[in-house]
Amino acid sequence: MSAFWKIAVIGSGPAGFYATGELFRQQSWSFKVDMFDRLPTPYGLVRGGVAPDHQKIKSVAKIYNRIAENKDFRFFGNVEFGKDIFRSDILEFYDLVIYAVGSPSDRSLKIPGEELPGSHSATEFVAWYNGHPDFSEHKFNLSAKNVFVIGMGNVALDVARILAKTPDELSKTDIADYALEKFYESKIENIWLVGRRGPLQAAFTPVEVREFLELKNADVMVEGGTLQLDVESQRFIETTASKDTKKNYEILKEISKNNKYKKKKRVHFLFLSSPIEILGSKCVEKIRLVRNVLVKRDDGTIYPKATGDFMEENADLIFRSIGYHGNPLPEIPFDQNSGTIPNECGQIIDKRKDKLLRTREYVTGWIKRGPTGVIGTNKQDAVETVNRMLKTIIQEKLKPMEQNDNSVFESLLKERNVDFVSFEDWKLLDEYEINNGNSQDRPRIKVTSIERILEIIQEKKRK
Ligand SMILES: Cc1cc2nc3c(=O)[nH]c(=O)nc-3n(C[C@H](O)[C@H](O)[C@H](O)COP(=O)(O)OP(=O)(O)OC[C@H]3O[C@@H](n4cnc5c(N)ncnc54)[C@H](O)[C@@H]3O)c2cc1C
Repeated sequence: MSAFWKIAVIGSGPAGFYATGELFRQQSWSFKVDMFDRLPTPYGLVRGGVAPDHQKIKSVAKIYNRIAENKDFRFFGNVEFGKDIFRSDILEFYDLVIYAVGSPSDRSLKIPGEELPGSHSATEFVAWYNGHPDFSEHKFNLSAKNVFVIGMGNVALDVARILAKTPDELSKTDIADYALEKFYESKIENIWLVGRRGPLQAAFTPVEVREFLELKNADVMVEGGTLQLDVESQRFIETTASKDTKKNYEILKEISKNNKYKKKKRVHFLFLSSPIEILGSKCVEKIRLVRNVLVKRDDGTIYPKATGDFMEENADLIFRSIGYHGNPLPEIPFDQNSGTIPNECGQIIDKRKDKLLRTREYVTGWIKRGPTGVIGTNKQDAVETVNRMLKTIIQEKLKPMEQNDNSVFESLLKERNVDFVSFEDWKLLDEYEINNGNSQDRPRIKVTSIERILEIIQEKKRK
């Protein structure tokens, strides 16, 4: 048998799976992959981020399941790098490692009042309604009437759309049960989406914004005439604007024509505005915003410049959705500014060592390039990382280590009392969730506590 390389992949989101798939695709190499995730469930943001009413997108997990079927693949869920396992363990037992841990933190607005109760990150809210075990105990005041979502990317639109939907619409999704209960009590009337730039600079995609025209119980409107374009913007939309920008503009025009408000809730698109303060004595009561104008820099890029025109609106609940940020991992270089692991085409750069590049350590996905792109973007990204890894193996004349017994790492985890979950274990939970969902005409009913997940797996294994 030809020698094989043992690879550890840290993180089981799209990036981790695409990197694994790319390794297994190599005809002239043999790889064994052990994938670790701090959660007992795989797929990263496909389970914990993608909106519950976007089930088609979640079906990408079928591709990951096929990768997991490879005989040389093992999953170790409920194992956290930096808590249960460390860099020294990985470098002792594996030839190479790929970190694919994503960017789970959010960026803050850095404005006064941001810490008041009622002001949250979209990250927390999304993770809460998606049943992420770390967030299931969080509380959100859905008896609020006026909600502000700060940001105009797809995640901001997800949050606004979920808030605007009726509980009956949500009840056919895999939204966490506790969240669905709270949505039945929701008193929300106004949902504001706030963007600092104009409609032509919005980061959302046409598919996402079009969904607002189809909401059962919410009217949608564009605030304050921002769709009247100046000469330059008009020329831009007619000439160099991307297809998506043109489509976004058409959809927003359609939205702005709506002047009959008959439904219970309203979604307001507010462009060219930035929050400057959140006001309230004990909790969020109001939000103060400044109007912006767009200014062109010498290099042609456009930025929003604050005017002296302010507005104050009642606000009971605020979600900031202005970008994600990675978290540092112990003993791994980290760039605080970008929130990523410094790398060259996926190979980790370590400026503190004589050797600039770490030969055995790689990175892929959001923690490599920052939180941009769609799920599929992580595939090209993983291909780049794997290619770089193969090139380095050849250039540096690396050799696979003496083959240690495949059960050694398992034994180490057991010694440390780490209750790890295999892919077969996860499939038992998966089946349990889907069966429970079937009885209620839902895709699945998620189990949202780690303790309960582990119990169910044990119960199923005993049967
Ligand atoms: C709210 C939201 C909605 C989105 N919706 C869509 C959509 O509809 N369509 C679309 O195409 N894209 C969507 N995206 C983008 C898409 O989810 C990302 O491109 C993709 O998930 C990034 O993959 P990743 O593997 O780098 O990170 P992640 O998916 O975040 O995966 C990282 C994994 O690493 C694990 N991990 C983290 N730290 C550790 C550690 N220390 N030890 C072990 N494991 C660890 C995490 O538990 C997680 O499973 C959305 C993103 C967000 C935030």
